Amino acid sequence: NNHNHDSSVSGRVRVAVRMRPRNSEEMLADADFADCVELQPELKRLKLRKNNWDCETYEFDEILTEFSSQKRVYEVVAKPVVESVLEGYNGTVMAYGQTGTGKTFTLGRLGEEDASDRGIMVRAMEDILADVSPESDMVTVSYLQLYMETVQDLLAPERDNIPIVEDPKTGDVSLPGATLVEIRDQSSFLDLLQLGEANRFAANTKLNTESSRSHAILMVNVKKHLKGKTGDMIVMDENGMTMQMAKGFRAPTVRKSKLVVVDLAGSERLDKSGSEGHTLEEAKSINLSLTALGKCINALAEGSSHVPIRDSKLTRLLRDSFGGTARTSLVITIGPSPRHRGETASTILFGQRAM
Ligand code: ADP
Ligand code: MG
Repeated sequence: NNHNHDSSVSGRVRVAVRMRPRNSEEMLADADFADCVELQPELKRLKLRKNNWDCETYEFDEILTEFSSQKRVYEVVAKPVVESVLEGYNGTVMAYGQTGTGKTFTLGRLGEEDASDRGIMVRAMEDILADVSPESDMVTVSYLQLYMETVQDLLAPERDNIPIVEDPKTGDVSLPGATLVEIRDQSSFLDLLQLGEANRFAANTKLNTESSRSHAILMVNVKKHLKGKTGDMIVMDENGMTMQMAKGFRAPTVRKSKLVVVDLAGSERLDKSGSEGHTLEEAKSINLSLTALGKCINALAEGSSHVPIRDSKLTRLLRDSFGGTARTSLVITIGPSPRHRGETASTILFGQRAM
């Protein structure tokens, strides 16, 4: 993107916390135990219980409780990013958290039975389609999985080793060979998400792994034609014939921007001592990419000029939609149950370092 830096578009990452309700298992088995997290949404604060007497308080940009609607979550986490994408900037929305805490619920729900269930991907596309002009603008989508440092096309599973190419001049990232589908209406987008999910399941069954061990990445490219004011540009003679273009005429320009939505691999630390072979390699790979992501986010948060983007494929893929004029929003997902206190604490710490 070659837009001038706009100071209103801050490089800082916005971090929201979303806590899901207890599931039925946690309600039964942990019934006698209080939640390990207490939310104070008005104060934008969260308290994490350390033991019976002590708790730690953390501040976030937004606290989303177990009662927050999908609509509210979209408005807080993603809408500002989508709006800036429609203004020509790149943007990223990411969900980070332990498996089972609601990353996919937050980002990927289709809400086909009940529209109020729709997640961020579907709501974002709805806002994008409402804004673009079907005649002159274009919206295209790619859907990918990043597993063990390999990019796979979720829309064409046979393409299982897509290269990441960075333009050395502009820094723009492209994925030659990845399927690009033009989206004109919401129903074709829902079909695409469903196809991607089915392919993801099939690919992971073949690889003998789980979806929680890979990152799912949706890329939405928006290409807008910016029209000049025609009346001002053309000088007519007395017969209404065009004589010349008025001074200051600017040719219509094409403006490209990109929204990337990342459903990150589960952040839980696998027990490496007990893992071997395949599982150990997976754990190392997830650790590598989430650590690299964390370092890049921290560098942004600190305003550091060195953002170590090259350390993993995940961060290389995000290179042009992260930092600079791009807007980044992170939602960290947690559960309330005391049994996962350790993982919840480490998720909260990841979110804190991002701010
Ligand atoms: P993740 O993608 O982080 O592994 P999921 O999104 O698959 O987690 O959520 C795990 C389970 O919890 C699912 O059954 C999901 O429906 C449920 N769940 C997650 N978040 C919420 C929420 N905010 N409200 C109600 N149920 C939720
Ligand atoms: Mg998931």
